[in-house]
Amino acid sequence: MIEAALWSSCPPTQALYHDDPYATTATATVLSVSDRYAVFDRSVFYAESGGQVADQGTVDGARVVDVQKAGGRPFQLPNGEVATVESVFCHEFAEPCTLRPGDQVTMEIDWDRRFRNMQMHTLAHFLFHATGEYLEAQGQTRSTRGCHISDDSARFDFGCAIPGEAAAVIEARVRELLASSPEATVTPLPDTHDVFVWRSGDIVIPCGGTHVHHPKEIQGSVKVRRRTKGRHGTRLYIDLDRAGTD
Ligand SMILES: [Zn+2]
Repeated sequence: MIEAALWSSCPPTQALYHDDPYATTATATVLSVSDRYAVFDRSVFYAESGGQVADQGTVDGARVVDVQKAGGRPFQLPNGEVATVESVFCHEFAEPCTLRPGDQVTMEIDWDRRFRNMQMHTLAHFLFHATGEYLEAQGQTRSTRGCHISDDSARFDFGCAIPGEAAAVIEARVRELLASSPEATVTPLPDTHDVFVWRSGDIVIPCGGTHVHHPKEIQGSVKVRRRTKGRHGTRLYIDLDRAGTD
């Protein structure tokens, strides 16, 4: 349980992964500590948001198991959705935290896990785009209810029926996009430091997550699976089997 007293008087945490998603370490200053939680002035850790799970790693050797956002303000995205920006990152440790406000610390994330999340996040964008193309060709509009991105799988919940045979069509299109898409660019939106526009070729998605620069960094076998989700809903999964790619 994260107490408001931990974060309510802290300024928004500077998210260092926006400047460089490939950075694995950083120094920071402790702002607030409570039991197993700590807040820093800046962080190299990704805090869970936009469906992408949080980073894990260490701060001065102590194990960080989760990072959650608190506070912040609503921000209207160009696509009509609302994101929360300028949050405080609450780092959860495995053990009670021995840091004190004012301490200078060294952070290090679990790079393998982060890189896998970056691969899956990029794949999630290709899945989202390929599904939109499929639905458009069927005369349907895409409505999404949520997504979840972890290190070997990502999933989207769509608010419409998508037939079983669509999975193979969408999977083939994702493979095509992976093979043909150029290096992605990420540019900031005005009036916030937390939301960016991710572009790869013609695909444009507002996003604050972490991605690989180039789709060629995603090696392995891609599989799209489907199941019905509630009434009129469909869940699509994309899995990446990395066996034999190391
Ligand atoms: Zn993204």
